Amino acid sequence: MTARIIDGKALSDAVKTDVSERVQALKARGVTPGLAVVLVGEDPASQVYVRNKAAACEKAGLHSRVIRLDAGITEEALLDVVRELNADPAIHGILVQLPLPKHMNSARVIETIAAHKDVDGFHISNAGLLMTGQPLFRPCTPYGVMKMFEACNVALRGAEAVVVGASNIVGKPMAMLLLAAGATVTICNSKTRDLAAQTRRADVLVVATGKPGMITGDMIKPGAVVIDVGINRLPDGKLVGDVDFPSASQVAAAITPVPGGVGPMTIAMLLVNTLEAAERSLNA
Ligand code: NDP
Repeated sequence: MTARIIDGKALSDAVKTDVSERVQALKARGVTPGLAVVLVGEDPASQVYVRNKAAACEKAGLHSRVIRLDAGITEEALLDVVRELNADPAIHGILVQLPLPKHMNSARVIETIAAHKDVDGFHISNAGLLMTGQPLFRPCTPYGVMKMFEACNVALRGAEAVVVGASNIVGKPMAMLLLAAGATVTICNSKTRDLAAQTRRADVLVVATGKPGMITGDMIKPGAVVIDVGINRLPDGKLVGDVDFPSASQVAAAITPVPGGVGPMTIAMLLVNTLEAAERSLNA
């Protein structure tokens, strides 16, 4: 079997086109959706992500503000920046790019973002709303994966879904969204005893570990849908996922590539979350 490739680039373009149209409609009502991205320090990967997010906003007609802060800034000074953005009516979404420098408490910084502007969906009250089945903001990466399932007509109700990775930003919210869609969900982590036994049961397999190529074709159920969230840069500069694409694509029915899979969807869903925050502000 050679898997169908799920084209995240094409799907994200369709989402962005829809966002642009809704942005125009909102502008006609006097509101331009605004996203503030706060970047602390000079982490090269973070700089690329922030640049891409700002460019995507501009292209879709949203207003974006990038605030670059020195790596040595105090946590209190960063919190003041966040509080100012909370109070700024031109800003509907606030994103603090992670990871933060080691001297900062990321949880405290995220909790300082107003929950109704937390477009990453990482605030504890947004995590709680998702957990209790009444999401306000769905974290962008798992939200993008759900869009992929929808676009590819993947039947989730009653499906065996296995999520490998249990982080607060990908694995856990992914599991919650799959559960809400009616899947039977297993979450694996680094302590899982027999990972292959778990992954081989999966009709739907989502992998987010940051371990390049760790899921190989022999760990996949024939005909499964495989979503590779991982983005890993190898020493030779090549970008690869957490799934070994050559062997997995011989077994799966459908699979996302890296790059060009989940990555572009994450940015598209950030635009959706910001747009929806702006729409809600108008109705508030
Ligand atoms: P974290 O490091 O926060 O979490 C990794 C998770 O994987 C942990 O739960 C860890 O388990 C688990 N894990 C690690 N090794 C294994 C293993 N051998 N077997 C089973 N589980 C394992 O990573 P993130 O969730 O932040 O990111 C994961 C990957 O996704 C990275 O490559 C990252 O770059 C990428 N990413 C991609 C995005 C996109 O837009 N496409 C967005 C965000 C992330 P434990 O809990 O036991 O430590």
